Amino acid sequence: MDMQTIYDLDLQGLEAWLKEHGEKTYRAKQIYSWLYRKRVLGFDEMTDLPASLIAVLKETFVIMPVTLVEKQVARDKTAKYLFELSDGSTIETVLMHFNFGKSVCVSSQVGCNMGCTFCASGLLKKQRDLTGGEMVGEIMYIQKELDAEGSRVDNIVIMGTGEPFDNYDNVMLFCRTVNSDHGLAIGARHITISTCGIVPRINDFADEHLQYNLAISLHAPSDELRDRLMPVNHAYPIPVLMNALKRYSEGNHRRLTFEYILLKGVNDSDGHAVQLADLIRGMNAYVNLIPYNQVDENGYGSTDERTALRFYDVLMKHGVKATLRSKHGDDIDAACGQLRARHERNRNDS
Ligand code: SAH
Repeated sequence: MDMQTIYDLDLQGLEAWLKEHGEKTYRAKQIYSWLYRKRVLGFDEMTDLPASLIAVLKETFVIMPVTLVEKQVARDKTAKYLFELSDGSTIETVLMHFNFGKSVCVSSQVGCNMGCTFCASGLLKKQRDLTGGEMVGEIMYIQKELDAEGSRVDNIVIMGTGEPFDNYDNVMLFCRTVNSDHGLAIGARHITISTCGIVPRINDFADEHLQYNLAISLHAPSDELRDRLMPVNHAYPIPVLMNALKRYSEGNHRRLTFEYILLKGVNDSDGHAVQLADLIRGMNAYVNLIPYNQVDENGYGSTDERTALRFYDVLMKHGVKATLRSKHGDDIDAACGQLRARHERNRNDS
């Protein structure tokens, strides 16, 4: 049987586990410190724990849940990691270097069922959810690498493969652990959850009053178009989605991010920009315009820079703040799920 990673236990869970095993609960903070401050990869290194406890920990848990299969580094230093999990599944994680710090983009599921027509992740259906600890492993593997150069993970975006709000509890455990003062202590405002718009979970998230950033993959300003791009829109059409987002944003006093991939000739006209502005104007929100990473399998093209700038201008003129993101790592398999899709294809071919 596969052994569980100890990263699957948040501080409370670890305390509960210790209690169950007749140990003192203060050991939880000691263990956390070994895991997330000193970042050891073996229980034997936890020298202030009793030998008997170390023995039980070793019988019960592994520490690092991921192993590296392949790493691609782009000219701009964007690094894409293909990891294997204990059951042989593979996932992708990306490290990006921005002037405001290092951001890691983590996957939340093995494959994805949302079926967005432009996305490479959906080429492979969901096999399973990631556990919270496996997601923590994505961060810890990269943090261990960064330790060697004396730097750290500054920001986390849950924008890799998978729909985080289709794996809500595990994603929240992950966020708690990396955010915990006893864990990696990455500030909540440096953690962004990106969802395609699963309204009931947006409502749950609103009710928890957490400080993590919320980003919404909108990509279309009308139901007619969004229905075609994102099947989730059939279940939660734009008016329903916007109501939930207004409730969240107003109830939590939080600014929202709308992600909008620019797809050549599909959603990038002046008319689309005006429609989008009408939808968002007045909300505490801004639009992040994202250049599309072309995926060969699905036939969408990337909007050229001039048209992108024009779209940006129209939004601003119509009273909506926007940012135009530059491309990262476009000389590697940077599109969500691309590296993994290629790997799985090769695996099946051989
Ligand atoms: N399921 C979540 C998180 C994962 S996708 C969500 O939908 O938000 C993260 C972001 O990358 C989404 O905005 C998604 O639409 C976008 N994306 C997917 N494929 C892309 C591609 N080929 N190029 C650029 N962005 C892409």
